[in-house]
Amino acid sequence: MSLRLSLFALAMGATALPALAEEVNIYSHRQPELIQPLLDAFTAETGITVNVAFVDKGMVERLVAEGDRSPADLVLTVDIARLIEVVNAGVTQPVDSAVLTADIPAEFRDPANHWFGLTTRARVIYASKDRVKPGEITSYEDLADPKWKGRLCTRSFTNDYNVALTAAVLAHHDAAYTKTWLEGLKGNLARKPDGGDRDQVKAIWAGECDIALGNTYYLGQMLADPEQSEWANSVRIDFPVFEGGGTHMNISGVALTKAAPDHDAAVKLMEWLSSDEAQKIYAETNYEFPVKPGVERSELVKSWGEFTPDTLTLSDVAAKRPDALKLIEEVDFDN
Ligand code: FE
Repeated sequence: MSLRLSLFALAMGATALPALAEEVNIYSHRQPELIQPLLDAFTAETGITVNVAFVDKGMVERLVAEGDRSPADLVLTVDIARLIEVVNAGVTQPVDSAVLTADIPAEFRDPANHWFGLTTRARVIYASKDRVKPGEITSYEDLADPKWKGRLCTRSFTNDYNVALTAAVLAHHDAAYTKTWLEGLKGNLARKPDGGDRDQVKAIWAGECDIALGNTYYLGQMLADPEQSEWANSVRIDFPVFEGGGTHMNISGVALTKAAPDHDAAVKLMEWLSSDEAQKIYAETNYEFPVKPGVERSELVKSWGEFTPDTLTLSDVAAKRPDALKLIEEVDFDN
């Protein structure tokens, strides 16, 4: 039983401590509906209750402010930069787990064991099936070609996914090239950046643009949604590569907070999330790529085809992030 629950029991005047169930509290950047099927399966198996607070903005500030009194045990988030940001704020603790180190390849976890990747995803091009021929766009560099003038849609470039992509451009080239690339993309936009990745697919369906940037799993989610499947069916996934590299990848992941009132139950959940069972749910329900070797992608995800992941490591990309964001602001991409 956790100290928090014991104190709670004492405060309630209990003379004997009741057998309270274990409980894990999560602060999540991920949309609750994406992770609920996983958490339900975990609770069914272990009897451990899991509560999720969806924290869209200010996750780090909140954890810092709460300090040792934080009710959060785990942080679930997307993007390597956000994981590193939480760790650098000093609000996490390392997890020494033979299960996690066996399940998760070294390149997808922190060498100091503060963060662990749970899924990977590729940032790809959604192309209109009608208006873009297969093979017409094969690289990220190509997105800046004036032949796409008025044909490109994207969400905000200050969004984490696009900052990471720009950081990868910067790591493959240099600042001058990246600035020109950003200006090229901005010049090709059919409309001001707006909405999420799915909104760009809707815009292609509506004929507003012909190509867009998006993460792979959104296409699966859209196909499963009766309202959005028609949009999804109007596009194809093209896996672009960097000149001399591969397709840009990112991760979703988890970290244990420093406060972690229910440390042991939280570690149990972390270990469960890397299990075959959980990795299969990520693959089948969320259309993400399992991080655990040997767990298969869903049939749908396989149907999108094979691709070569980029040669840059996650830390290469994270290191370029601040400079990438500066360039995005310099070209005033979103306006
Ligand atoms: Fe996402």
